[in-house]
Amino acid sequence: MDLRVLGCHGGESPKHQCPAFLLDGRVCLDAGSITNMLSLKEQQKLEAVVVSHAHLDHVRDLAMLADTRTQQGGPPLVIASTPGTIAVLKRHFFNDRLWPDFSKIPGQKNPTVVFQSLKPEIEIELCGFRVKPVTVDHSVEAAAYVVGDGTSSIVYSGDTGPTDRLWDVMKEQDNLRALLMEVAFPNEQAKLARDSCHHTPISLEKELKKLGAKQRDLPVLLFHIKPVFQKAVEQELAKIKARNNTILNIGDQYLL
Ligand SMILES: [Zn+2]
Ligand SMILES: [Zn+2]
Repeated sequence: MDLRVLGCHGGESPKHQCPAFLLDGRVCLDAGSITNMLSLKEQQKLEAVVVSHAHLDHVRDLAMLADTRTQQGGPPLVIASTPGTIAVLKRHFFNDRLWPDFSKIPGQKNPTVVFQSLKPEIEIELCGFRVKPVTVDHSVEAAAYVVGDGTSSIVYSGDTGPTDRLWDVMKEQDNLRALLMEVAFPNEQAKLARDSCHHTPISLEKELKKLGAKQRDLPVLLFHIKPVFQKAVEQELAKIKARNNTILNIGDQYLL
């Protein structure tokens, strides 16, 4: 599985981009930075966007992506997520007020986007991948995803604070190659992290202890650091020993 990091931060500047991770050039995990990172041709090749939750830093580029694809024609883009997140996208985003309802454009019979509801912990086939959402603990309905291509699989945490079920589900996975894991704030902002259901390096270290014995050395690819706190969080992460942690950068590519 080819993983390309389009965006991996918890905020935006010319050097920071919101979360979006491209798998094999056709499925994207979250939509924080799709249209400013992919060429028009690459945008056209996308088959689905799997959305962790409806916060803007994870869904914003669905707007321009849908608009451009209407003009490009071709098969509809699948927007897949858990039912609560799909409901928010329909009601508050593609609602003909904030943005046109591209599930009816150009017409009901040939829509630009189709929404696909995913039930937690039910694995489905999506564009050649096996995709399973797992509910995590964030300030709104949010899911992590186990995504596999038959030979390898990865887990994408989305946004979450301390959570339990995800770690149990991971223990059942045999062919896990990497965990994309969020961490947002430095340790001194622990209250803010707790209130907003994100991680600090200390809470992350505690959380990683929930990894099963056979996954102790699993590569952990970290994302969602808030740009203002980038340096502080990086310094604190460097103090976490005995873990296979890597802080992701825009443009990183992995063959997993
Ligand atoms: Zn969030
Ligand atoms: Zn976020």
